[in-house]
Amino acid sequence: MLNWVLEAVVILLLFGPPGCGKGTQAVSLAAKFRIPAISTGEMFRAECKAGTELGQRACTIMQSGGLVGDDIVNCIVASRIARPDCRNGFLLDGYPRTVPQAQNFGLLLEERGLPEPVVIHLDVPDCVLVKRLTARRQCPQCLRIYNLQSQPPRRAGYCDDDGSGLLTREDDQESVIRDRLHAYSQLTGPILDWYGPARVHTVDGAQPPEQVARAIEQAVAEATGRIPVAVR
Ligand SMILES: [Zn+2]
Repeated sequence: MLNWVLEAVVILLLFGPPGCGKGTQAVSLAAKFRIPAISTGEMFRAECKAGTELGQRACTIMQSGGLVGDDIVNCIVASRIARPDCRNGFLLDGYPRTVPQAQNFGLLLEERGLPEPVVIHLDVPDCVLVKRLTARRQCPQCLRIYNLQSQPPRRAGYCDDDGSGLLTREDDQESVIRDRLHAYSQLTGPILDWYGPARVHTVDGAQPPEQVARAIEQAVAEATGRIPVAVR
């Protein structure tokens, strides 16, 4: 079967620690390259909802609080990227999570005649992330989230909408954040090592979001020749 594709297929893998702005970048990259941004969480929920055998197995494991094994995750990814919206490429956020998953993903791309992925690592020093994440405050009344650095309330310490005193959430305590950052590097370090420095494009994620976006787009253009479309 011939499948004429006018543009180069872009397969993007996005890695970055909690608080690095990965979610925002994923949304804007998806729009600019006209590819779906796929997070493993959404993929799992969709598969569960579809009620496939695979979905049911994943569902049962997740509901019992267990970790879904590589076999099931790999199958869910394979089924997701076979969908028509992935014909020009796709962005994955949260996969691969282990070296065996990365190896399997390489084989899957090869089988489907797809190019190698562009691996983006959003690098932000822990101290910057800790500062960013500990600056989060929440209104206990309306649950609105503020950030003392980037989105402060008009009156320090109080919600703009209802005047309630803002609180720090349990998840945003420094010790909790340091644990999450540690867990992230333990998990992701080996995967980035496996791809190796020649394949991994490290982008300074501490820059303003627009500059981060430009750096990623440049890495994609260099690797695939694909230029982002203008997004209004
Ligand atoms: Zn409020």
